[in-house]
Amino acid sequence: MTPAEALKKLREGNARFVSGKPEHPDQSNDRRSEVAKGQHPYAIILSCSDSRVPPELVFDAGLGDLFIVRVAGNTADDSAIGSIEYAVEHLGANLIVVLGHERCGAVKAAVDSADSTAAAPGHLAAVLDPIAPSVKEVKGKPGDIVDLAVRANVARVVAQLKASKPVLADLVSTGKLQIIGGRYDLETGEAELK
Ligand SMILES: [Zn+2]
Repeated sequence: MTPAEALKKLREGNARFVSGKPEHPDQSNDRRSEVAKGQHPYAIILSCSDSRVPPELVFDAGLGDLFIVRVAGNTADDSAIGSIEYAVEHLGANLIVVLGHERCGAVKAAVDSADSTAAAPGHLAAVLDPIAPSVKEVKGKPGDIVDLAVRANVARVVAQLKASKPVLADLVSTGKLQIIGGRYDLETGEAELK
């Protein structure tokens, strides 16, 4: 499947989800048996851990369809990038979607912590620190700061993955791999991909 075909499939699945007419494809026992022998997911999704944004539901997909990395705030550390590289190199996926979402709690926390001198508790700093540059970027701009930061964070992570050497950057430069961003709307269920 080409990146364009994979993107079309994601858009069609999301449209079914938005309209309340999901087909729940690839969830049969036959499909389970089929993919037990091997997986060839058509897209890689880097999305937030938020319980309201499960990619298989949002894109009306099933077993073996999507290779998903989820972390609060949908940022990419080395472990996430390594996971993505595995899916690209060994499973044949050639479309990566970085999916942010409306009212992201991790981004909201990063916005709040930018105005605070207190250190984030526990391991939360590891979640917030990679989002901080996006918060800084949009500070003072007109509009809702959390939503602006959600969009800026997605754009930043897309750029980071596109520049990630040697694996992802090389494949992007030859046109074999496409990396795009998206924002999920909690109310409508629409994943705006571009
Ligand atoms: Zn989130």
